[in-house]
Amino acid sequence: MTWTLHDLTEEQREIQGLARDFAQREVAPYAAELDHESRFDPAIVKKLGEVGFLGMLLPEEYEGLGLETSTYLIALEEIAAVDASTAVLMSVHNSLPTQMILRFGSTEQKDRLLRPMARGELLGAFALSEPEAGSDAAALTTQAVRDGDDWILTGTKSWVTSGSHADVIIAMARTDTREERKGARGIGAFIVTPDLPGFHVGKKEDKLGLRSSPTVQLNFDGMRVPAANVLGDPHLGFVYAMKSLDAGRLGIAAQAIGIARAALDASTSYAAERRQFDAPIRDFQAIQFKLADMSTRISAGRALLHLAAQAKDRGANVKQACSMAKLFASETAMFCTNQAVQIFGGYGYVKDYPVERYFRDAKVTEIYEGTSEIQRIVIARELYAHD
Ligand SMILES: Cc1cc2nc3c(=O)[nH]c(=O)nc-3n(C[C@H](O)[C@H](O)[C@H](O)COP(=O)(O)OP(=O)(O)OC[C@H]3O[C@@H](n4cnc5c(N)ncnc54)[C@H](O)[C@@H]3O)c2cc1C
Repeated sequence: MTWTLHDLTEEQREIQGLARDFAQREVAPYAAELDHESRFDPAIVKKLGEVGFLGMLLPEEYEGLGLETSTYLIALEEIAAVDASTAVLMSVHNSLPTQMILRFGSTEQKDRLLRPMARGELLGAFALSEPEAGSDAAALTTQAVRDGDDWILTGTKSWVTSGSHADVIIAMARTDTREERKGARGIGAFIVTPDLPGFHVGKKEDKLGLRSSPTVQLNFDGMRVPAANVLGDPHLGFVYAMKSLDAGRLGIAAQAIGIARAALDASTSYAAERRQFDAPIRDFQAIQFKLADMSTRISAGRALLHLAAQAKDRGANVKQACSMAKLFASETAMFCTNQAVQIFGGYGYVKDYPVERYFRDAKVTEIYEGTSEIQRIVIARELYAHD
């Protein structure tokens, strides 16, 4: 057992139960096989949509569940504890494209897109990174040039989660190339759909983990995007993306806690069953200490995550809190999955048990939506923010 949120509301308990049942019924039976085959099953999108899990943070007006951030993260932890690939699809869709359209889109864009996105008829993705612009995302070079009623986009976006199957991709491109507007200023956020002329899905990444989550390059080859698909001010897209990433990081933190918890649950069961030297290995203090450390870190990570989520819903500035939660949770996931493989010994190193998948899946939480180094930079910078 890890420390849980003792005062879950009735709604939170209900959503937690729904997510747990959904994960056991619709995700668990296929997770290992899809990982092994490195295959994405698009059927999951429709199923997630049917239970409302693709509109968790959208208001009811847009057919969303209108949940508080904490409640959404509780559900995400449950899904991630069974399959991190499904969790990242949910996290990106709920935290980035739908939230960006809700916060910065026009009434027409919201009416056109948010309801089908909540229903799971349209899957969302987020395209900020480029081959030469990762941590330094503001160095992106995809160009957007105005041409009558359209913008012409040329460039390559990389690492786009769900990019090969997404219907609505929020893609950042440079709209102002003047020297004084280099960097974060002069970047627009565009609603890109795969039917646009010049849109191509490029290389699919062959990844260490999250193997059933498709991660692809997207090539925009003089792609014509109607001006009606620009989100808000055509020069403020990067600002919108950064504001949304604060919350996105909470989704990744919940994913990380879910993976860590799965590693602990598998380890406690295995340590009770596996016998060496005529005793279950849980009798050895060396194993007990590993389990104790895992449990403590998961509880601390979960507490930090939900403190940040509650502060966000109160409208506080949560930039530092989101980075702390993401940093601590992702390093907890890596720690716990590493300990789990150790507790399983040789059996942890093969595919007979799920802990090797957890170990592979955990690593990316220290990398995407800002690496651990970038989170530390954000946290440290905020220490001096009010000087
Ligand atoms: C599976 C997966 C899915 C992803 N999904 C998406 C997605 O949907 N949309 C999207 O836009 N992007 C996505 N990404 C991209 C991800 O956000 C980037 O990989 C990440 O931001 C790091 O960028 P990079 O890989 O270019 O590494 P780099 O920025 O090249 O960093 C390399 C190393 O240098 C360190 N470093 C860089 N700058 C500094 C600094 N100033 N100080 C100290 N250390 C530094 C980094 O921490 C890292 O350790 C995804 C990535 C992966 C692997």
